[in-house]
Parts: sequence; C-alpha cells; structure tokens
Amino acid sequence: MSIDKNEIVVEMNDVNKWYGEFHVLKNVCLRVKKGEKIVVCGPSGSGKSTMIRCINRLEEHQQGDIIVKGTPLTNDLKNIEHVRRDVGMVFQHFNLFPHLTVLENCCLAPMWVRKIPRKEAEAIAMKYLERVHIPDQALKYPGQLSGGQQQRVAIARSLCMNPEIMLFDEPTSALDPEMVSEVLDVMIELAKEGMTMLCVTHEMGFARKVADRVIFMDKGQIVEEGTPEEFFNNPQSERGRLFLSQIL
Ligand code: ADP
Ligand code: MG
Repeated sequence: MSIDKNEIVVEMNDVNKWYGEFHVLKNVCLRVKKGEKIVVCGPSGSGKSTMIRCINRLEEHQQGDIIVKGTPLTNDLKNIEHVRRDVGMVFQHFNLFPHLTVLENCCLAPMWVRKIPRKEAEAIAMKYLERVHIPDQALKYPGQLSGGQQQRVAIARSLCMNPEIMLFDEPTSALDPEMVSEVLDVMIELAKEGMTMLCVTHEMGFARKVADRVIFMDKGQIVEEGTPEEFFNNPQSERGRLFLSQIL
C-alpha cells in the first residue's frame, strides 16, 4: 500500500474550549500529515494536554472542528469509538492496569475493542513487546517493572491497536533521569519507522532528532511553529524566547 504523504491524519480548525469560564484553547488550528512528527512545547498550564486529549475525545471541545482520518469528532458515539481505534495515547503516568500482567494489559483492547481472539492478540502483544525490547517482562505485573519499562509497556499496548497516530503527553517527565533515554530511544525508533506522532515533550534532543515541526503553545494558543532549528535557535516570539530561557 502506498503512503500518500499529503494525507491529513488530524485536522483541528479554530478549536475553542472552555473549562467553565476559563478559556483553555483559543482558535487552535493544526494539521498533522501522515508520517509527520510534531513536538508540542510550552509552559505548564498552556493547554498542551487539553489539546491532545481533545483529539481522542478524552476532553470535549465546544467550538471548531476536529477531524481524525476524515471522521469529525462530535457527540456521535460511533465516531468517538472509531477515532479512538485510530489514535494511540501514552500518558505521563503510564496508566497500566496494576492487577493485569503486561501481556494482559496489551491484549485487552485488541480482544475487547477489535474482537481479536486471545491467542492472536497475545501474538500481536508479544510482537510489540519485542519491538520495545521487553518481551521477557510479559508475565510480570506493572508494579514489578521500572518506570521506564512500564512506559515502554504503555507504548507497546497502544501499538497493539495498530493506530494511525500516536499521541504522547510528557511520556518521560515522571521518570527517573536514568530511564528517560530508554523511552526516548523507543520513540525515536517508532519515528524512524514512519509512525505519525504528536508529542508533548520538553526533550529538546528528541525534538531535534525527530521533529518535522515544533509547536509552541502559551495561554491556550499556538504562538509559533517552526523546525526544531528555527524554534530552538531563533524563536520569533517574546513568549517563546522567555520559555526557552527558562528550560535551557
Ligand atoms: P498543560 O498540559 O500545558 O500543562 P493543561 O491542558 O493541563 O496544560 O491545562 C491548561 C489549563 O486548564 C490549566 O490552567 C489547568 O489548570 C486547566 N485545567 C486543566 N484541566 C482542567 C479541568 N478538568 N477543569 C478545569 N480546569 C482545568
Ligand atoms: Mg500537560
């Protein structure tokens, strides 16, 4: 199957969202093309998590359109289910089920959402556990693994659903420093294999290695975007310069 590089996987048009009175997303426009890797950065509270959580409807937006692979996100449950199959998400705090083994965590959605028989789901799970370099941990429980290993399980679990796009929300910020690179390395491998990725992260080394674009958010707006070189070396906005001076 040929990849149409111009295929849009996610489209956000003038998206606005409020939490009560608080205007958290302001006219956000974003297009993610197939195979594209985008890094989202910005100060704490700028709306980064809210933006990516809207893409798989963990949060609801009130104005504008969000379209995932041609399916608009509305209150239609069928559309929401459809979109969630296509969108993988990895959170800061892994969110694995503690009472299920690593293998069971990975098989759950393929079996219950995609209706894949257990044996087949297990084979898929093992394939992705190998891909994140921890097949030997399959029968352990999450609590028996290090943070870096748990996050790699979370990545494998998402991949088992064969998503069109992977969303990452600060996947390394809860990890001890020595475990950051084992997770970033897996993400870099995924990027090289052509996965479409939208990553909230302040890991600039990662951004420089894989990002086609860096998006900088502040106070609910996309303030500027550019290549990693453009943004990190020469931010155009005052807010971008201030942000970089604080994280560097
Ligand atoms: P970021 O990920 O950039 O740190 P968030 O998207 O988590 O930002 O949050 C943006 C703003 O929205 C913050 O001021 C936060 O306090 C607020 N916020 C986030 N979630 C909720 C919620 N469920 N209800 C009310 N306010 C929220
Ligand atoms: Mg956040």
